[in-house]
Amino acid sequence: MKPLRRVGIMGGTFDPIHFGHLVTAEEVRVKFGLDEVVFVPCGIPPHKKGYAVTPAEHRYLMVVLATASNPHFIASRVEIDRPGPSYAIDTLRFFKQHYGEETQLYFITGADAILEIMTWRDSEELFRLCRFVAATRPGYHLEELEKRLTAEQLAHVDVVTVPGIEISSTDVRQRVAAGLPIRYLVPAAVEGYIYKCGFYRECVNESTGSQLSS
Ligand code: ATP
Ligand code: MG
Repeated sequence: MKPLRRVGIMGGTFDPIHFGHLVTAEEVRVKFGLDEVVFVPCGIPPHKKGYAVTPAEHRYLMVVLATASNPHFIASRVEIDRPGPSYAIDTLRFFKQHYGEETQLYFITGADAILEIMTWRDSEELFRLCRFVAATRPGYHLEELEKRLTAEQLAHVDVVTVPGIEISSTDVRQRVAAGLPIRYLVPAAVEGYIYKCGFYRECVNESTGSQLSS
């Protein structure tokens, strides 16, 4: 029998992509024996963000730069080329058709994001299309996940512990605005691209709305 192909789908705004995303994807790839992981930067985020999101083409390019050296990582344009807000259900339908029934899809998210996903309208169909992998940091309390998801939902979720990397894109943006280093938080090529294009210099504090730099 032909072995089942396994493909991970890692969606995000990736504004910018950082080592937290990359470590998570690599750890899940190895633990689940995935043939590849597809990084899918969103076009227009479905939920309004509290800041002006960097144009999709640039976020996609940073994903290409960050994933180029890993032979198992691929960057996808599927969401940035699709007009309108990016919904994961459309993306998963696309990949299911693209890879065919012989492929098991794994939708990789942080443990925080999984709770949000489970409240989506189409979660029944999502369950038919893929399994979910909730990546969690050591020390993260899984009871929260178990409390908030039904047994049926939990049956579709694999929880995996990845090395904890306390990085968020929000923090990277705020560090650039504040003139602090982002070296070792994002791949060197991504760091160079951020400075070359002048991204995040005028990033606003997303919680207060105040300008972090002039
Ligand atoms: P932002 O701060 O702008 O929300 P982010 O760092 O959360 O950015 P996203 O592009 O929103 O990055 O996240 C994409 C996916 O990666 C989500 O499923 C999120 O939970 C996961 N993720 C983000 N940062 C980490 C991290 N440090 N470790 C593990 N997973 C992460
Ligand atoms: Mg996020």
